[in-house]
Amino acid sequence: MSIGSEQITAFVERFAEAIAEHRRLLTRLDSAIGDADHGDNMHRGMKAALERLDGDTPAAVLTSVAMALVSKVGGAAGPLYGTGFLRASKAVEGKDELELADLAAAFDAAFKGVAQRGKSERGQKTMLDALGPAVDALRAADDDGTDIGDALRSAAKAADRGKRETVPVQAQRGRASYLGERSIGHQDPGATSTAMLIACMTGDDDLVAAAAEDASDKRAEDGPGVDDA
Ligand code: ADP
Ligand code: MG
Repeated sequence: MSIGSEQITAFVERFAEAIAEHRRLLTRLDSAIGDADHGDNMHRGMKAALERLDGDTPAAVLTSVAMALVSKVGGAAGPLYGTGFLRASKAVEGKDELELADLAAAFDAAFKGVAQRGKSERGQKTMLDALGPAVDALRAADDDGTDIGDALRSAAKAADRGKRETVPVQAQRGRASYLGERSIGHQDPGATSTAMLIACMTGDDDLVAAAAEDASDKRAEDGPGVDDA
């Protein structure tokens, strides 16, 4: 099995749907350790991505998403996600069909782009804590000769574990870092949306639902940014 522009398009549509469904959770997580806008930011960005979703190669589709995210989302996550999608696109430029090695290269490039743009690394309570383990899982699966479906499922599980592991960490990047020790006990919103993204690659609704679970020790009260819209 390989992945062409139709599969990438379907993945982006699933991710937009998952973000719309779970935007209140993302905003609630961000209300605990940020400014209560991560769900709204991602929702605005993915709505824009759907409007201009286009392209007859995987790279072209990924670029259209990157442009929408960069132009429509303020704050940290828009440019960081935009950079990730753009670097992933560059990594698979010129290919009509992606094999597992191409997917691993695309996610690896996205990781490096976010790390560079964010001046961040794994272990700092950011989206990289979900993305990094997913890259490792894809690389390991490629080395083992695993098929793409199983590889993506193992990447989604690794990203979900990485997301959970942000809970006991003190944030060192982004707004959450301003809280110092008070960021401990809360799950990172960006790691959560990234775990959802990887799960959306699998097409398995149970994995998407697991990615959207909150494993925080402390609960955020519904803040001002949390509404039913
Ligand atoms: P903002 O922080 O501007 O309000 P969002 O709330 O949409 O933007 O996104 C916050 C998320 O962005 C965090 O949960 C974290 O995962 C991610 N993030 C913030 N800063 C960085 C960084 N320097 N590197 C990587 N990820 C970051
Ligand atoms: Mg925020």
